[in-house]
Amino acid sequence: MRTEIATLGEFGLIDRLTEGIKLENESSKYGVGDDAAVLSYPSEKQVLVTTDLLMEGVHFDLTYVPLKHLGYKAAVVNFSDIYAMNGTPRQLTLGVGVSSRFSVEMIEQLYEGVRFACKEYEVDLVGGDTSASINGLTLAVTAIGEVAKDKIVYRNGTQVNDLICVTGALGGAYMGLHLLEREKRALAGHPNPHPKFEGYEYILGRQLRPSARLDIIQELAKSDLVPTSMIDITDGLASEILHLCKDSNKGARVYLNRLPIAQETNRMAEELHADPVVAALNGGDDFELLFTVPLAKQEEIFALGIDVIGHITAPDTGVALVTPDDQLIPVQAPGWVAEKQESEANNEG
Ligand code: ADP
Ligand code: MG
Repeated sequence: MRTEIATLGEFGLIDRLTEGIKLENESSKYGVGDDAAVLSYPSEKQVLVTTDLLMEGVHFDLTYVPLKHLGYKAAVVNFSDIYAMNGTPRQLTLGVGVSSRFSVEMIEQLYEGVRFACKEYEVDLVGGDTSASINGLTLAVTAIGEVAKDKIVYRNGTQVNDLICVTGALGGAYMGLHLLEREKRALAGHPNPHPKFEGYEYILGRQLRPSARLDIIQELAKSDLVPTSMIDITDGLASEILHLCKDSNKGARVYLNRLPIAQETNRMAEELHADPVVAALNGGDDFELLFTVPLAKQEEIFALGIDVIGHITAPDTGVALVTPDDQLIPVQAPGWVAEKQESEANNEG
């Protein structure tokens, strides 16, 4: 079934997309329907705002990303940014620019994903904007949240000897992306493509249906643990550790053999003749949290089952990876490992 958006018009479409939304959060006073949403946060809270712009062909590829998954992920990655401040997301707004290639039903699928994510994370969809576009699909997503003033965590608070913690396995989403790209290439031009995805559920899930670590933020709060610095891992561990260290003016040692990498990620890497450690360091989209705590909190961190991958050092020692045979590899910029391997391969040849 394909209903042209023109038959509904802008207001008809907005009505369809936002039908039946109920506001669940205390701070959401008024949602969709007026010129602006109305929010009210208590004065002891800080309000957090984060936004993402997602362009078709740049940030997502609809040949292999279902619209429902795109909507879900677009919402969840914004929630992840609020969690990375040690906050709780409460509201979401969503702007969509949409070309005539898209039907009402397609945009409804997108919203099904967004609304599913909002339900799961208890966030209210309180507004947005809708426009025609010449080409493709554009999404502008904004999440708004809250955090107690003394619990807010920036990127810049880490101290020497702090432990570097990571909340889950890395590199899986990147391997999922590789699988999707491989099937896309293999099936290009096929009239009725049947990609081979059986057995790859884990890495595909990491790429298409990521989680934001609400559970960790809740557990840290329960244990009365406030990290000294925190960031969510969107562009790979290497890039994020550099952000933390640069903003905190510190160095770091990260032990390569401590990086959490799932079996499924290792298996896919082997199949592609790729290095899973490179995926963990430079692959994107894992949405785990990277944070630091004082050394004295070690027991509590282990009790939560969180991996400690290294520690913070003085600024003049630089940011470096420690290999299993105790060699130091400086972390300069994302991409360094791939370059290093290429040059090694060239030297061999
Ligand atoms: P305005 O002309 O002030 O931009 P609109 O007619 O675009 O207002 O929007 C009317 C209402 O519908 C507003 O509350 C707005 O937040 C909401 N809205 C518009 N587009 C969307 C959308 N894509 N998703 C959610 N809410 C939307
Ligand atoms: Mg508008």
